[in-house]
Amino acid sequence: MAAQALGRVDPATRAVVPPIHVATTYLRDPDNAYSSGFVYGRPDNATVRETEAVLAVLEEAEAGALLFGSGMAAATACFAALEPGDHVVASAVMYWALRNWLLTEATRWGLRVELVETDDLGKLEAAMRPGETKLVWIETPSNPLWTITDIAGAARIAHAAGARLAVDSTCASPYHTRPLGLGADIVMHAGTKILNGHSDVIAGVLAARQDDEYWARIKRVRASGGAILGPFEAYLLNRGLKTFYVRAAAQAASAMALAERFAAHPHVARVLYPGLPQHPGHAVAAGQMENGFGFMMSVQVRGGEGAAIGTAARVDLWKRATSLGGVESLVEHRASIEGPGTPCPPDLLRLSVGIEDPDDLARDLDAALASAHA
Ligand SMILES: *Cc1c(COP(=O)(O)O)cnc(C)c1O
Repeated sequence: MAAQALGRVDPATRAVVPPIHVATTYLRDPDNAYSSGFVYGRPDNATVRETEAVLAVLEEAEAGALLFGSGMAAATACFAALEPGDHVVASAVMYWALRNWLLTEATRWGLRVELVETDDLGKLEAAMRPGETKLVWIETPSNPLWTITDIAGAARIAHAAGARLAVDSTCASPYHTRPLGLGADIVMHAGTKILNGHSDVIAGVLAARQDDEYWARIKRVRASGGAILGPFEAYLLNRGLKTFYVRAAAQAASAMALAERFAAHPHVARVLYPGLPQHPGHAVAAGQMENGFGFMMSVQVRGGEGAAIGTAARVDLWKRATSLGGVESLVEHRASIEGPGTPCPPDLLRLSVGIEDPDDLARDLDAALASAHA
């Protein structure tokens, strides 16, 4: 499905790579209709639709997928489609920029936002206000501690209270988890990350189980607010998706090997990776993830913040940069970028594992840890 972009060829030329449709406007028929279905480039675009079709298949999304200009544009559309006064419950540990947006912009618009540790379903259930809670937002595994929320359990709790469940599945990716099949209503991805995989596109994805009024409102939010992805970016994302499965497999295998290796390292206090049996979310992760546990992990460096920053300063092969999911491995002292109020411990380095030789990655990190502790 991904490797051949559903096997579609261009009907005009038989090209196996379809063209990029860049038109902003479309010819009207003499009878004043728009028989092609396209009118203007802000609500819809044929190249965007091609990529959306692939993503809908990968997520088993019966209602389809929508592409946005960024992961944040996709995520915030889910909240903009709610009503002022609606109550939403979200994971306390999640992508920092979205957490900040919920506590500032969403709150300014009148949404009542409550953050809870959704890895504890008892806490999620206690936070629900039946009839008032309209959306539960979870991220699993969640940045940057990789806590695991039970998707099927969260869906049951959300639905019992009359709310929908949306899952930020960026770090699981459809290679490991398909949240809609576990009962979620909406799945969101930063297409920027492993789906594109080459650190050269900013994009967001939503996919839905049911073509209902809420999904229709999200479509209107995208069309009227102008949040659609551009056709060149949609093309690049589709190109990235062709190698998604081989990249995701290699990155997950390397991440597992590195997690095991550094869990026993004398300069590492703790490795946070859901694939390790000692991780508190391991059992739930093993039940809802397949093909391994993803490409993201964190290490807590012995010696605290100074030793963590010192280690990041000394890597060579790993690149010191934010973001994740690309073919190149990245390391980041996460507390520095998240700032005050972060649940991220100061000794934590977040690692995004790429496709380089895992032994080279291990040697480079090992040398940086040794040098920082010398
Ligand atoms: C990067 C990221 C986002 C936001 O995506 P952008 O494309 O940067 O807007 C949201 N959630 C997670 C988990 C991410 O990693």
